Amino acid sequence: MRIPRAISVLVDSFQKLPGIGPKSAQRLTYYLLHVPQIELDNFSDAVSHLKKDTILCSTCRNVGESDPCLICTDLSRDTLTILVVEQPLDVLAFEKTGKYKGLYHVLHGAINPLENIGPDEIFIKDLLDRVRDRDVREIIIATNPTMEGEATSMYITKQLKSLSQISNLKITRLGMGIPTGADLEYADEVTLSQALQGRRDI
Ligand SMILES: [Zn+2]
Repeated sequence: MRIPRAISVLVDSFQKLPGIGPKSAQRLTYYLLHVPQIELDNFSDAVSHLKKDTILCSTCRNVGESDPCLICTDLSRDTLTILVVEQPLDVLAFEKTGKYKGLYHVLHGAINPLENIGPDEIFIKDLLDRVRDRDVREIIIATNPTMEGEATSMYITKQLKSLSQISNLKITRLGMGIPTGADLEYADEVTLSQALQGRRDI
């Protein structure tokens, strides 16, 4: 049986999403056939505006609606502390704790040689420039406790320590509480708050 093109195109699109296999892609597509047209239009509008209506902050590289973003321009925050995370979702997780009042830097990934992601593929240089150009007292490295996250943390630490003019910069890593191999975005607020409090010098 020949599948209508409109269906096969959408199945292919779903299949490109992480965690969606061919079966799930088919199920989602056929499910949408039962949804009213107006809802489908809203859905496709939302997808179409996703990137058009957001922008990466040129300072912290978080996703927002303005550049610089609301966090970077918030005068009540501690601008001398930068928390380095892998993904924008990690920023949401830390914001939810309500315990962190500094700024962020989003790398958009971690060093992963197996997937050809080197230091230049993520926003590490931007972080170094930021530390060089602005007054920063503490960098808290909050990459995931995975092999890639640890490698990224070590690389950043080495690079920061080689910036000779910032000898009094404090570099810390999140404390215990986050299980090894876990994703920070899934950690609950209490665990994240404790990890922040228990950060150690590196
Ligand atoms: Zn920002």
